[in-house]
Amino acid sequence: MIRAGTGFDAHRFEQGRPLILGGVTIPHSAGLAGHSDADVLCHAIMDALLGAVADGDIGTHFPPGDERYRDVRSTELVEQVMQGIWARGLRVVNLDSVVVAERPRLLPHREAIRASMASLLGVGPGCISVKATTTEGLGPEGRGESRGCRNRFSRPGPRA
Ligand code: MG
Repeated sequence: MIRAGTGFDAHRFEQGRPLILGGVTIPHSAGLAGHSDADVLCHAIMDALLGAVADGDIGTHFPPGDERYRDVRSTELVEQVMQGIWARGLRVVNLDSVVVAERPRLLPHREAIRASMASLLGVGPGCISVKATTTEGLGPEGRGESRGCRNRFSRPGPRA
């Protein structure tokens, strides 16, 4: 069985918070606002994983405002979602993602993020793609107000 899912998320930048992407803390003048650690990449990946198995979305599993998830590390939530994937006898084959923001530049952190996500999803870093783009100044991402993430998670097949 081969299944695929897509995910999207966006968070506002907020001063005084750490910027965490894919479980990696990135030095920047602001972090992202959110109930959890606001790891926009992990959130989009979770929605892609849940979409692939048609099991609701991140809000279904981790309701916004639930005190259990206040400031929770999103990597812990990804681990929970992966338990559900593995429990179905499925595994991740590859992940492709796009992070949308004007700043900071993602390239210096890309390999750390790939390694982090590979570990969480149980695949090698060669199966994890993390791309970055700006919006040429357009929209909230272009104005530096937010960071978005789209990704496509594809081809989970029978677990090896
Ligand atoms: Mg989110």
